[in-house]
Amino acid sequence: MSEEKFYFQTEAAELLKMMINSVYSNRDIFLRELISNASDALDKRRIESLKNTELAENLKPEIKITADKDKKILTVSDNGIGMDHDDLINYLGTIAKSGTKEFLQAAKSGENPQNLIGQFGVGFYSVFMVADKVEVTSRKLGSDETYIFTSDGSGSYTIATTETRPECGTDVKLFLREVSDDNKNYADEWVIKGIVNKYSDFISWPVIFGDNVINSQKAIWQKPESEIKDDDYKEFYKHLTHDWRDPLMHIRINAEGSTNFKGLLFIPSVAPFDLFMNPESGGISLYINRVFIMNDCKYLIPDYMRFIRGVIDSEDLSLNISREILQEEPIIKVIRRSTQRKIFNELKKLLENDREKYIKFWTIFGKIFKEGFINDREHAKNIAEISIFRSTHDDGWTTLEEYKSRMKPDQKGIYCLAGRDDLAALKASPKLELFAQKGFEVLLMTDPVDEVILNQANFILNPDEIKLLNIAQNDITPNTDDEIKNIDEQLKNIEPEFKNLKGLVLKILGEKLEDVKPSLSLVNSLACLREPKNAMSLQMENILRMAGQDVPVQKRILELNVSHPVIKKLMELAKNNNDNENLNDIISIIYDQALILEGARIDDPAEFVKRLNNLMEKVL
Ligand code: ADP
Repeated sequence: MSEEKFYFQTEAAELLKMMINSVYSNRDIFLRELISNASDALDKRRIESLKNTELAENLKPEIKITADKDKKILTVSDNGIGMDHDDLINYLGTIAKSGTKEFLQAAKSGENPQNLIGQFGVGFYSVFMVADKVEVTSRKLGSDETYIFTSDGSGSYTIATTETRPECGTDVKLFLREVSDDNKNYADEWVIKGIVNKYSDFISWPVIFGDNVINSQKAIWQKPESEIKDDDYKEFYKHLTHDWRDPLMHIRINAEGSTNFKGLLFIPSVAPFDLFMNPESGGISLYINRVFIMNDCKYLIPDYMRFIRGVIDSEDLSLNISREILQEEPIIKVIRRSTQRKIFNELKKLLENDREKYIKFWTIFGKIFKEGFINDREHAKNIAEISIFRSTHDDGWTTLEEYKSRMKPDQKGIYCLAGRDDLAALKASPKLELFAQKGFEVLLMTDPVDEVILNQANFILNPDEIKLLNIAQNDITPNTDDEIKNIDEQLKNIEPEFKNLKGLVLKILGEKLEDVKPSLSLVNSLACLREPKNAMSLQMENILRMAGQDVPVQKRILELNVSHPVIKKLMELAKNNNDNENLNDIISIIYDQALILEGARIDDPAEFVKRLNNLMEKVL
């Protein structure tokens, strides 16, 4: 095959330009990136050779660095999985990583790219910070063909066949820039050794320079805690996850007893874009006696902890265990339980000792974590213990225990209101008014999952211990039994007076409503909407609609505040059969108001505005 010329995908080309013009101070990271890629390639080859033992013959995995100090040439080679013609185009000619896209977005939005490179890391392209030309020679496992990818980073690259590599794997050959601003010669033995020591020491494959292995290869989770610096954890996390930001925290597990295993887990400090989609860099990696077995081993951790990254290394599993039966393997189940327990404990400690950090954690991952209430009822109590919520108490967060400590002596339970993700809007809900007036605290729940939790609260949690009361239901009120009786009486008395207004409202809004009822549980608002028992909430309806589901329109009950002067006046007008031409507009507006306060869309905004303007014209 003769040489083919390609152009980098637009985004890739933009990134390359930034790399070439980079004055980023920490260029050393390019070598970390290359070694990390080589290490991944060796992991992938190992997995293939587990499936097909023939491929394992004569396998002597290594990462080899060669350098010519005078000619300023540096090569990083591996005998890993390798890349074929299409891989070179797909992996090196385009950007697949969402992290890199985020990087570009941030750079475009005015952030100085130089500050961003270190935060995001940009993988293979970082070589262009130090090299003005790169040649990648690669032969893919199972193929006889070797390809060479050449680029100077200026928008295009070429691919051609070349002399067959003796074994599968990849050589990345860098022609280092003649003049380097930082005066470092990256082909110098000491520079190389320094970088490997700093960033790649824990890589589990040998990194060879000259004839020596220059990394300790010591798995960080196997080392005693006293030997590990905080930076080591951070570097390891970055290698493992391809995330470029420091993790929020790490958790070490050292389980000894009936089952022996070690673990090193991390909680990221930002929710990766691809949290749910990228198993490549995701989840927990399983090792058996320091040998990498698989990424994203789902059985090691419950689904609602899926944002946790890390490594678990078991001494008790057999190396040739088949992936298919992993889930059923009793040892895996034991590991899972004890890992889960450890995570609960560590999060509890964090909540007790570093509230600020905990809030950061919860703001990012709380909504995922709370899925556990629904999926893991067995541990609902543990989850409840470390769940925090916003509330009407103050602007901060509260645990359920803290809420309980503030409860009034005769309070019936923990009052909760779930709604849209906008806290400020939820705080404006008419349903809170009476609770606020009477000095009762209400938890404000803004995650979609909260609604489901509230609906099933009594099944999830033991109501004798934690009783969550959803104040969206009209039988949940802050009133005492005596008050309730009294109010019921008042409402009954008002019934005849209310009848005419009800008839009028139904005539105007008829098909939109399930019913119209007088209410004494509102303070300032004129009206609110409630779901009939067992009906879907507006919030839920919105969620399902947004998810593209065909949801039938749920009719709601319109409650009118009969202690409010406006409603009182309306009752009077309706009673006297007063054919006030404004009534139609006013009633429609009251209904739309209730929808707005509920965070729902009004049916016809133009009509709403027209009615409002009509009234204004009359008043002025
Ligand atoms: P990342 O490693 O974060 O995915 P890179 O830009 O460093 O991003 O690499 C892009 C892709 O190129 C890798 O995901 C991998 O599939 C492929 N790749 C890079 N280096 C190698 C290598 N030495 N051997 C095999 N594949 C490689």
